[in-house]
Amino acid sequence: MYKNQKILILGMARSGYEVAKLLHDYNNEIIITDTKEQDKNNVSELTNLGIKVMITSEQADILDATFSCLVKNPGIKYDNPVVVKAKELGINIVNEVEVAYSFMNKEVNIIGVTGSNGKTTTSTLIYNFLKEEKEKVYFGGNVGIPLSKFVRDIEKDSYLVLEISDHQLCDMYNFRTNVSVLTNVTPTHLDFHPSYDVYKSMKKRIFNNHTESNYAIINIDNEESKNITEDIPSTKIYFGSSIKAMAYYDDEAVYYNNEEIIKIKDILLKGKHNYENITAAICAVKIYGVSNEAIRKVLMEFKGVEHRLEFVKEYNGISFYNDSKATNCVSTNIALKSFNKKIILLLGGTDRGHSFYDLKDNLKNVKYIFCYGETKDRIELFANDVGIMCFKFNTLKDCMYKIKDIMKKDDIVLLSPACASWDQYSSFEDRGKEFKNLVEEITSE
Ligand code: ADP
Repeated sequence: MYKNQKILILGMARSGYEVAKLLHDYNNEIIITDTKEQDKNNVSELTNLGIKVMITSEQADILDATFSCLVKNPGIKYDNPVVVKAKELGINIVNEVEVAYSFMNKEVNIIGVTGSNGKTTTSTLIYNFLKEEKEKVYFGGNVGIPLSKFVRDIEKDSYLVLEISDHQLCDMYNFRTNVSVLTNVTPTHLDFHPSYDVYKSMKKRIFNNHTESNYAIINIDNEESKNITEDIPSTKIYFGSSIKAMAYYDDEAVYYNNEEIIKIKDILLKGKHNYENITAAICAVKIYGVSNEAIRKVLMEFKGVEHRLEFVKEYNGISFYNDSKATNCVSTNIALKSFNKKIILLLGGTDRGHSFYDLKDNLKNVKYIFCYGETKDRIELFANDVGIMCFKFNTLKDCMYKIKDIMKKDDIVLLSPACASWDQYSSFEDRGKEFKNLVEEITSE
């Protein structure tokens, strides 16, 4: 328990601000520091509570041996001078979720989700499945509201779904889930971790403190996931595309324990990667007895997490999908592989000099390419080279009005731009929202 201690919180953001308030209630002496100016109201709220807020670039000077704990924001790297100094001084380094967990009722059912890809989709599905049949279900962690804000409201026997990044896992020690889902492990975030082996060892921490009464949900198709979970004591349950898995999918349907749950055609989410996420989520909630009916209902209605191959609407047999989060060719390839109908593909955005030729193996269903933004000329050259008819405009809006004239029944109109959005938008979220507004505009007349 974090009581009567002197604690430095490194990084204010939302989680730092919430954990400062939580720790303050337990008679801890707290200093919170950030290099960037913070919201004035938040700063004065903390100051009024007696918490010292220090905005400075010389953060390492604050720390000395009188502190017993450093709460580090997960995004801060380990070569940060404050973190280095804390290690030298032997100060306990933890993160916000680990602190919040220490205040949690231990009879809460915790379902933790981590992995290289699919965390948000899988944890959102688990949350939605549970919500159908359980009364008290909470969602937090890497996305949404910091756990510190609501940890003390979570009553015994309720359910807590937590999306947990590998950055967060780095500073978790006592944290223990009841059910841990590892969606997959591939070499990503290697700019943060010193090596791929370290990254994998961090992912493995999602199973920390497990005994055989806890569950590990593992991807049967992903060798790395199987390797790193070989020696964990948890009870293992597998998902994926193999009939040997507890929850699996094929071209026709999704199954659990050899029983068909839903036909693929009835699921709004598209793509094998999403069927993987669905089977992972099913394994997790079946532990708590969620019915096939509840799962089916959610899958028939769930349009996907916003901007991640999100189903927008169907109009005259034409389906629109918003995959604005696809800011590189890897993600756009995943989207392209998710459909077997004719695709009108919207590409374009910030020019980082990256090649579009990485898309060439997945273009068999693409009937037209529409390009816009900074990269439009390079995309046009690429489209001409691979023999796909291309339409070039300055903006997404201009593209959409041309699409309106040429789209036909059974087409998929897909925004999966393979580029960042900053040339014309403040974020991929803004770009996705504009796309959805334009879909409404061109389909409402
Ligand atoms: P995360 O939270 O891990 O970033 P998301 O659920 O937000 O993952 O999905 C982000 C993108 O990652 C998706 O748009 C898709 O391109 C890709 N993705 C999602 N699930 C998977 C998966 N199971 N395997 C591979 N890629 C995936």
